[in-house]
Amino acid sequence: MQEIVEPLLQWYQINRRALPWREDTNPYHVWISEIMLQQTRIEAVKEYYVRFMKELPNVESLANVSEEKLLKLWEGLGYYSRARNLKKAAEIIMEKYNGKMPTCYAELIQLPGIGEYTAGAIASICYQEKVTAVDGNVLRVISRVIGSKKDVLLPETKKEIEGKLKKVMPKQSGNFNEALMELGEIVCLPNGAPDCENCPLENCCVAFQKNLTDEIPVRVKKVKRKQEEKTVFILVTHDHKIALEKREGKGLLSGMYQFPNVEGFCQEGAIKELLLKWSLEAKEVRFLKEAKHVFTHIDWFMKGYLVRVEKENKDFLWISPEELEKEYPLPTAFQKFKNFVK
Ligand code: SF4
Repeated sequence: MQEIVEPLLQWYQINRRALPWREDTNPYHVWISEIMLQQTRIEAVKEYYVRFMKELPNVESLANVSEEKLLKLWEGLGYYSRARNLKKAAEIIMEKYNGKMPTCYAELIQLPGIGEYTAGAIASICYQEKVTAVDGNVLRVISRVIGSKKDVLLPETKKEIEGKLKKVMPKQSGNFNEALMELGEIVCLPNGAPDCENCPLENCCVAFQKNLTDEIPVRVKKVKRKQEEKTVFILVTHDHKIALEKREGKGLLSGMYQFPNVEGFCQEGAIKELLLKWSLEAKEVRFLKEAKHVFTHIDWFMKGYLVRVEKENKDFLWISPEELEKEYPLPTAFQKFKNFVK
């Protein structure tokens, strides 16, 4: 890691882009630009930033602006809570710090809307405090440099990278942090498109040397799991025939067989209605058990009932336990009730 410091700082001196908020290291300017840049492209932010500064050039004007005017200035940038938090923070700065931006990470991070990254960026760029400012760009660059295949979406991976950066953080912490972000923005690009030939870290980058830039960074997206409730019926006739039906369509488990079931957990009345609809006369309805089955994206929560019926109907396929055993593919989810089929 130590090897990256000098080449990066030298590269940044020559290659840093001229951006409106980089004309000075006024903490108000850095703060507003960093908040605008969250979830928004640099090109789109430029115009907003210039307009914002014209209308609200300092903390005081931001603290006193009406919410309506503030939101109008923010219109189109989205994530409006960012703008509201700016105003709240400005009010606190007026009250608690006499209108002057706090000068250290520990105080900055207390303000509404300022997280670890923004506090680190302001503290290092404006006050040269030796703190890190790790965003997605920095995670990508460092993961590639050290050849790490750890999931960059995990907090522990971020912590580890912050730890490594802290150890080598130079006096010019602001330039170093900005250089890393800038490298991620314009050279070490995501999706297999890094411009390694023009990268100052080419000689010390593991991903480049081992040809791993397509594989790093690793981002394991968590799939939001769907949860479904079902009532499952083991319908059995007096001569031990069991009702099955085929799952149609192209969805989950299509083409396989299943015990008749319905969405949701049925109460007693709903079960009676259902049996009527299926033209079945029940001699006994007995709750069996609850079961859960976990698919890749869905969890099924099932309640099973054994229903002894007078005779078969036309809606289902009625088969013997032996046939079920040998001929009909029954998904694991329904196997959980198979023991009751005797
Ligand atoms: S050498 Fe390539 S992969 Fe490594 S940091 Fe530079 S641009 Fe990124």
